[in-house]
Amino acid sequence: MKRSLRDKSGREEGPAYPVSGRGYAHVCPSCGEALALFDLRDGDQAYWCLPCGKGHRAGDPPPGALRPLPHAG
Ligand SMILES: [Zn+2]
Repeated sequence: MKRSLRDKSGREEGPAYPVSGRGYAHVCPSCGEALALFDLRDGDQAYWCLPCGKGHRAGDPPPGALRPLPHAG
């Protein structure tokens, strides 16, 4: 019996949004723009909206910051 080792086929789609890994993209609750992911000095990560000058920690998204991806699952 052969064990099929399915890898992710190395296909990268280059998502336009930072993806949380659960089918959600982090977007700015104010302007709806995709947020940039930054490393914080304490080792945490934060999503930041450059135009608005505000953001949130990756582990603590405010309401409206998570947008379901169009093809989740
Ligand atoms: Zn914004």
